[in-house]
Amino acid sequence: MTQAKTDSASVSGKRAGRRHRKVKILATLGPASNSRDMIEALFRAGADAFRINMSHGEHEGHAAAIAHIRKLEQKLRRPITILCDLQGPKLRVGKFAGGEAIIRHGSHFTLDRDETPGDENRVCLPHPELFGILEKGDRLLLDDGKLRLRVIRADKDAILTSAEVGGKISDRKGLNIPDAVIPLAALTEKDRKDMAFALDQGADWIALSFVQRPEDVAEARRLIDGRAALIAKIEKPSAVNRLDEILELSDAVMVARGDLGVEMAPEEVPPLQKNIVAAARRSGKPVVVATQMLESMITAPTPTRAEVSDVATAVYDGADAVMLSAETAAGEWPVESVSIMDRIAAHVEGDPGYHERVHLTETLPDATTADALAASCAQIAETVSTSAIVCFTGSGSTARRVTRERPLAPVLVLTPTRATARRLGLLWGAHAVVTKDIGSFEEMIGKGKRMALRHGFGQAGDRCIALAGVPFGTPGSTNVLHIVTLTGDELKGYER
Ligand code: PGA
Ligand code: MN
Repeated sequence: MTQAKTDSASVSGKRAGRRHRKVKILATLGPASNSRDMIEALFRAGADAFRINMSHGEHEGHAAAIAHIRKLEQKLRRPITILCDLQGPKLRVGKFAGGEAIIRHGSHFTLDRDETPGDENRVCLPHPELFGILEKGDRLLLDDGKLRLRVIRADKDAILTSAEVGGKISDRKGLNIPDAVIPLAALTEKDRKDMAFALDQGADWIALSFVQRPEDVAEARRLIDGRAALIAKIEKPSAVNRLDEILELSDAVMVARGDLGVEMAPEEVPPLQKNIVAAARRSGKPVVVATQMLESMITAPTPTRAEVSDVATAVYDGADAVMLSAETAAGEWPVESVSIMDRIAAHVEGDPGYHERVHLTETLPDATTADALAASCAQIAETVSTSAIVCFTGSGSTARRVTRERPLAPVLVLTPTRATARRLGLLWGAHAVVTKDIGSFEEMIGKGKRMALRHGFGQAGDRCIALAGVPFGTPGSTNVLHIVTLTGDELKGYER
């Protein structure tokens, strides 16, 4: 595997510098990338956040990857975001005699409770919850939608179907049931164990898969209890139908196009992507666009034109982050995939038409002082040239408000809370730096200027906007917007 030729994060001294794009890159780790060196190469190529996919691998391997990330964080003195993705209530069929069977087009096929290996006529459905809820006409999609069965009759021990699209099926293949809300707990036993592990490991974000209802999110929220932020994956029609309530209860959402494209017709996914991204932006919640973004790079060193266009679309839509799945987890070109994504994002953001397109989605400020000031920052940065918006935040909520405006100026976030800095790795445009707590207004201005200089957010003569809440440390108290001009001498007497 080759290494990326250029560093996306410029490195000054030992500290990794800032990215030259606003959208974030979330890279999934797996056998192709979970070594110490590969994680560093992916970060340097542009990955801001790493996804640990709990559907694969063992806790031991995940713990090792997490330890590598935390060491790298110390080495480069940059917060790095870790997202642990729970498998969720993924449905699977049972096993087949000889490992596989061919279901013929148009034939009858039965799913039952009999655990003996299946054949071309039947297989075990090891999910008792499903008997009794399926109805005539419901679709059962097997193996990522490659096979389609339609329910003819659902009895309490057997579901008789007709194979509308047949084909080869093998042991434990996935099953999607888009037409029904399934009375399954949001979190399986495995999810609960995985969540406990992830929280214990200090994961910054927990992703919930196959969310069906707002109550699923509420339940996970209660279990997480503030120890990590929660991202709801939108991959079921039932979640799409209740998006607003799910957004309300989540810290972020993911447009999980892989399963969404199985549960719904593929042509329904692009408009949904646009609508979900816009809804999330309006509600001030970060949104990740995921799956198959550079799919062909699993085996090829260059993407297709259509894939490049797909990444560009997500960037123009103003998504907070774009994700790589198998490209980095199991592909042959993980570092190249990240570099290509980084290049596409930087180039799109450099398009003179980018800003206007991103603002096609209007995000009206809430009727709060904090939101009014955040909106003002963006407005000021459009009116007078501004090298940075420097915002001070404890919980990260001020940073969320500012970046929701998708301002022209770079956003430097200063926080005394490491967990906040790490969570901000999924937020559009937020460059987070952990600093000591600040006491007074003067201290804040002094620190803001020094940090802007030190982190490459301005030089002598540049104008910066500082945004904070006084007194410090009261969440939601954002009430100060101050405009400062750097002299360039601010660092004198301070160490780098
Ligand atoms: P997955 O989720 O990769 O965990 O399936 C993303 C998706 O379905 O798009
Ligand atoms: Mn999925």
